[in-house]
Amino acid sequence: MTAQAHLGLSATRRLDSLSWPEAEKALQQSGSTVVWPMGAFEQHGPHLPLATDALFSERILASVLSELAANAPIWSLPSQSIGFSPEHAGFPGTLSVSSGLLTQLIIEVGTQLSAQGVKRLVLFNAHGGQIGLLQAAARELRVQSPSMAVLPCFLWSGVSGLAALIPEEELRGGLHAAQAETSLMLALEPRLVGEARPVDGDHRQPASLATPPPGWSLEGAAPTAWLTSDLSSSGVIGDSRAASAELGEALERCLVSHWANLFGSLLASNWPPSQPVAVVN
Ligand SMILES: [Zn+2]
Repeated sequence: MTAQAHLGLSATRRLDSLSWPEAEKALQQSGSTVVWPMGAFEQHGPHLPLATDALFSERILASVLSELAANAPIWSLPSQSIGFSPEHAGFPGTLSVSSGLLTQLIIEVGTQLSAQGVKRLVLFNAHGGQIGLLQAAARELRVQSPSMAVLPCFLWSGVSGLAALIPEEELRGGLHAAQAETSLMLALEPRLVGEARPVDGDHRQPASLATPPPGWSLEGAAPTAWLTSDLSSSGVIGDSRAASAELGEALERCLVSHWANLFGSLLASNWPPSQPVAVVN
C-alpha cells in the first residue's frame, strides 16, 4: 500500500506531495487555498472506530477536491486526527489535546502558511465538540495574519438537502455515533462498522434524567456543555438502529455536492478583502 492510498487523498492535492520549489509556486498563486481536515480520536459507541470524525473529514474532503477544476489553487494538509474531546473522557481509546494546545497548533501552522503566501485556510472539521474552539482559534489567527482568510467550517452544518434525508428526531437528538454517522461509515468503510446498533442518551426509554431543564437543550440556542457520561453508557447519543449504507451513500453525495459548491464559490471569490475598511467615528 502506498502512503497516498493509505491516506486516501489524491496526490495532486496534497501539499506535502510537492517539492519545495513546487510549493513555493503553488502557495504564492493568487487565491491560494489550503484545507486542513480536522478530526478527533474518540469513542463513537461500541460499533464505530475511534477515527470516525477524522475519516469523515479526510474522505469527504478528498471527494470534494476531486470535483474541483484540476488547476484550482487548493491543497490539503494531512488531517489533524487528535482533537479536543474531553467530553468523551473515560471511554477507552479516547485521546484528546487541550483547547490551548489545539489553538496554539492552529495559530503556529496558520501563521507559517500565511507567511508563505497562502490567502485562505479552511479548517474542515467533522467533530462537533470543537466547533466553538476552532472558531475562536480562527479568529485569533486572522488577527495575527490579517492577509489570510481563515474559515472554520463543520462538515454537518448548513448542508442543503440534509434535512430531507435525516429524520427530525435524528437531526435534533442524534448527537453522536447515531443514525447519520453510522450510515456514513457504512457507506465509506463498512469493514470498520461493528454489529451493534445502540440507542442511548436522551433517546433512552423510559425518559432518563439526561433531559435538560425546560428551555435548555443539549445543543442549540441555550446549550449545556454536556459530558457523554451525563447521557450515555454506550457512548452513543441518539439512535443508530435505522442506519443503512443506502442512507450513508445519500449523505455522502449530499455532503460532497454541498462542500464542492462552497469551495467552488470560495475559489471564485476575492475573499478576504485586500484593504481593511477605514474606521470612522
Ligand atoms: Zn463523530
